[in-house]
Amino acid sequence: MENTLFIYNSLTRKKEKFNPITPGHVGLYVCGPTVYGDAHLGHARPAITFDLLYRYLLHLGFKVRYVRNITDVGHLENDADEGEDKILKRARIESLEPMEIVQYYTNSYHHNMRQLNTLDPGIEPLASGHIIEQQLFIDRILKSGYAYEVNGSVYFDVKKYDKKYNYGKLSGRKLDDLISNTRDLEGQGEKKNPFDFALWKKATSGHIMHWPSKWSEGYPGWHLECSTMSTKYLGEEFDIHGGGLDLLFPHHECEIAQSTAANGKGAVHYWMHNNMITLNGQKMGKSLGNAVTLNDFFAGTHPLLEKAYSPMTVRFFILQAHYRSTLDFSNQALQASEKGLERLLNGVDDIEKIRPSGKTSIDLTSFEKKLYEAMNDDMNSPVMISHLFEGVKTIRQIIAGKETINQADLERLHGLYHAFVFDILGLQKIEKEGKQKDLSSDLIDTILNIRLKAKENKDFSTSDLIRDSLNKLGIEIKDKKDGFEWEVK
Ligand code: ZN
Repeated sequence: MENTLFIYNSLTRKKEKFNPITPGHVGLYVCGPTVYGDAHLGHARPAITFDLLYRYLLHLGFKVRYVRNITDVGHLENDADEGEDKILKRARIESLEPMEIVQYYTNSYHHNMRQLNTLDPGIEPLASGHIIEQQLFIDRILKSGYAYEVNGSVYFDVKKYDKKYNYGKLSGRKLDDLISNTRDLEGQGEKKNPFDFALWKKATSGHIMHWPSKWSEGYPGWHLECSTMSTKYLGEEFDIHGGGLDLLFPHHECEIAQSTAANGKGAVHYWMHNNMITLNGQKMGKSLGNAVTLNDFFAGTHPLLEKAYSPMTVRFFILQAHYRSTLDFSNQALQASEKGLERLLNGVDDIEKIRPSGKTSIDLTSFEKKLYEAMNDDMNSPVMISHLFEGVKTIRQIIAGKETINQADLERLHGLYHAFVFDILGLQKIEKEGKQKDLSSDLIDTILNIRLKAKENKDFSTSDLIRDSLNKLGIEIKDKKDGFEWEVK
């Protein structure tokens, strides 16, 4: 199929036709998680947004090198060079080795991502595994004159850079405004300007994660890892860089500055950002008490949740909004998605019930075209999903005999639904609860038959133990002459 994919480029603020550097190949870099806590809803959206992109590019036949980093060198969200290392802080609370925490939350993140059925990236580099590369990157920036060393730390010289290259390309911010906004901050310390950011920071005593360098025993600034690792695995120029809108400034702005300072040009051709999630209309945050983890969602264990929501419900809910729109999570909206997902998946199942006939009365070509047009329009998944729902109505009409379809077109319809629902949207069939219920009732029967046997053998302590244990689980047992009856209380 001819590639007519258009994506919104945050750098030019326009939808642009996607033209990869090497035809047929795509280099994709996505900012991954900081592993110092369980993944929450805020992690699910970029993961699913760029999973949709990855899946769609694969579907279009591109070879994709997908790199998503793990930020395990502690840092602060807004300014990498002040305050306490987050991983260090947690290590102190839990008295664990920092890498133990990194591993624990990385595993937990992977588990959640698999529950959401996101495909693994091809490369998942750790910031802590690329310290030498980061130091070499700093060398290049120092050599080009856009960084300076003070007391063992190295800072990026934003003002000097701005004179030649314009700092603020991506965010649209002007350095003059930044200057007036930061003027009131007390003490800019050793930096030339308060908006300069750290490339290398000398470790204070008690800072556990640090490495030797020619400047000091220290650690790299946060923005540096993404510039370094994207260059290492995708080259000095690559196609797409993605992340949450909250990373656009300063993180991605600083990435552009670093790459441009080191190489004389920006690395990224298309910058893509997913919008933020709110919960019941409120911004999410730990301090607001509404940072619901994904584990909470899947188990329903948070006071804000009326019930548990399956990973597929959460995934479908995220895909039902365009990735550049804000998305408000509420119980009502999630329950609507849950029903919608069931309706869609039932529709896919219903295709199996169709009996083909001699001729086709529906317009499959225009249906197919609409699905691709929606996706090619900056990944408009909600519009694509609405077409799939329309198609479900048509499937019902075919089954009811109001429309007809021949064998070849039935296979085509089947193929389209499987491609768009399972391959591209990455949805999975929900295990039918009924199956589990059947199994548990069989198990209870089995246990009660063992109890009968125990009674026959006059082993009353075992038979009472079984009865009491089942009672505790809420199962009431009535002994009958010829066996037993039970019910769940
Ligand atoms: Zn990043």
